[in-house]
Amino acid sequence: LVLEMITSNEVIESIASIVQSDALLRNIDCQFLLEPTSLVRVDRNHLKQVLLNLVSNALDAMEDSGGGTLTIATHDDADRKNVHIDISDTGPGIPSYMIDRIFDAFFTMKEHGTGLGLAICQRIVTEFGGEIRVFSKGFGTTFSIILPAAVKE
Ligand code: ADP
Ligand code: MG
Repeated sequence: LVLEMITSNEVIESIASIVQSDALLRNIDCQFLLEPTSLVRVDRNHLKQVLLNLVSNALDAMEDSGGGTLTIATHDDADRKNVHIDISDTGPGIPSYMIDRIFDAFFTMKEHGTGLGLAICQRIVTEFGGEIRVFSKGFGTTFSIILPAAVKE
């Protein structure tokens, strides 16, 4: 684990072209709405893995609709204590009876899924002192990674 004080935007920018081309291949539009944000204390490779897992789930979710929009947005919250990274899709959403189980290891609805993606994401984000929240109400899903703004010691 290599913790560094960096912006989440630079990690997002480092995966932007791979995300764009994955999305393009699946006829999915990709939007980056990156506001200037506070620094966070994270391992950049672990954060990359979290983002790629959430993106991959988002792209999978839009598979059957034959297209859609993936949005990756960042902002500080109002009191600048936390940085939010929101990954949204226009897929079918997650039924409420499933939402409590999606972070469980080995929970998957996919024929060839491992069910490990979200469990790993949650473990990593917790290591950074943050949390992951999910919002899904009938249509589309947003996963929010909430990371504490780093304070210099
Ligand atoms: P896997 O991708 O291998 O199935 P994950 O832990 O990444 O495992 O995800 C678990 C399950 O959560 C998925 O199988 C899917 O049913 C659901 N899920 C995750 N992300 C989304 C999303 N963006 N939209 C709809 N369902 C999702
Ligand atoms: Mg997954």
